[in-house]
Amino acid sequence: MSTSRSLISTSLVFLAFGSTSASTVRAQYTPIPYSWDAAFTNDEVAIIRAAMDKVHSLFRDPRVARITRGRYKYASVSNGNWRASGLKYQRGMAVGDYLFHQLAALRSVRFPHVRIKAYHSTGNDWGRANTDRVQLRFSRGRATVSGGFEIELNRYWLGSRGQGSDTNQWAGVIAHEMLHNLGHLHPVRGKVDDEIYRQHQINVFDAAVSANGGGIDGTACHVCGSAEGIDSGSSPAPGLRVAQEFQPVRVFANRNHGHTLRLPAGTYEVLPSGTWSYSRNTRWVGADGDPYKSNTGGTSYPSARFGELLLISDGVWSKYERGRTLYVRRSLTLLMNDRPREYGDNVGYLDVVLRRLERR
Ligand SMILES: [Zn+2]
Repeated sequence: MSTSRSLISTSLVFLAFGSTSASTVRAQYTPIPYSWDAAFTNDEVAIIRAAMDKVHSLFRDPRVARITRGRYKYASVSNGNWRASGLKYQRGMAVGDYLFHQLAALRSVRFPHVRIKAYHSTGNDWGRANTDRVQLRFSRGRATVSGGFEIELNRYWLGSRGQGSDTNQWAGVIAHEMLHNLGHLHPVRGKVDDEIYRQHQINVFDAAVSANGGGIDGTACHVCGSAEGIDSGSSPAPGLRVAQEFQPVRVFANRNHGHTLRLPAGTYEVLPSGTWSYSRNTRWVGADGDPYKSNTGGTSYPSARFGELLLISDGVWSKYERGRTLYVRRSLTLLMNDRPREYGDNVGYLDVVLRRLERR
C-alpha cells in the first residue's frame, strides 16, 4: 500500500515545482465498506458506486481535510458526540478542530460500514442522516471508533437530469451525510445558496469533495475559488509560474510581534490555512478575520478585521487578500490583527505557505 504523501512533508525546505501530475500524488486507501438498499435501480446504483469511488479517497485525503480546516466560518457539532470524543477537554482544542481530527483518525482505524438507504421526497433535500451514529474517541494519542454510518439518498434527485446525474455532486452529498453521522451540524433551514449555510464546516467539506478536492485535479475549488495549498498542479496568476514553494510557517495567534521571515526578493503568493481566535472565548476564524465583529479601532492595523492575517513587507503593512500577490524585498512579517495589548489570550495558529512567483 503506497502512502507516500510528498505534499505534506515538512522535512523539505521547499518543494520543487515541475511536472508532478496531480494523479501521481493521490494517496491510496482501502475501500470504504458500503452497501445499498434493494430499492435503488441499477442506474441509481451506478451513480452511487461512482460517487463512492470518489468518497473513498477524498474523504480521507489529508489535503481535503486541510482546506476544509482553513476555509469555514462556522463550525457546529452535536455536544454529545464532541463530549464523548474526549477532545473537548483537551487544551487548545475547539469545535472547529474536531472534523480535522476525526478525518485523520478515520485514516488509521478500521473504517465503519456505510449503509445507504433510499427515500423519496420532492423537496430540495438530496440526502438526510441522523447525527451521532459514529463515535470517535481520542485517548492518550490514540483513536478508536464505534458505530456505523447510515445515510439516506433522495431517489427523486438521484439520476435526474443535470446535476442529479453528476457523480461529483453525489460524492459531496454522501460525504455531507456522513459528517452528520459524525456529529456535524448546520442551520436547519439553510439553503444551498445561503452564505451562512455554505460557510458551515460541513458544507465546506461537502463542496470540497464535490469539487474533487478543489484543485487536486487542477480545477478551482468552488468553495473558495482557488486551488491553494493543495497541490503543485494548481496554477498561479496568469503569466506567472511558481519558482519556489516554502515549507509552511506556523504563525501563532498569541505572538504580538508575529513571525518574521527573511526571503529572497521577489513577488510572493501567500497561502494561509487553519483557524485561530483573537480571544479565548470567541469564534475561530481563518486568515480573513471575523466579519461579524466590528473593529472600532485600536488594533495593530486599524482597517483590518479582528483576527485577520496581516502582512508587513519591509515595513509596509497590508492585510491578507486571497489571490493577491505581494512584493517582498527582504523580509516579511506575518501577524494576527488584534489590539496590541490583547495578544496574550489568543489561541490557535495558521500555517502559511509562501510561493515565490516568476514570469513565465
Ligand atoms: Zn445536512
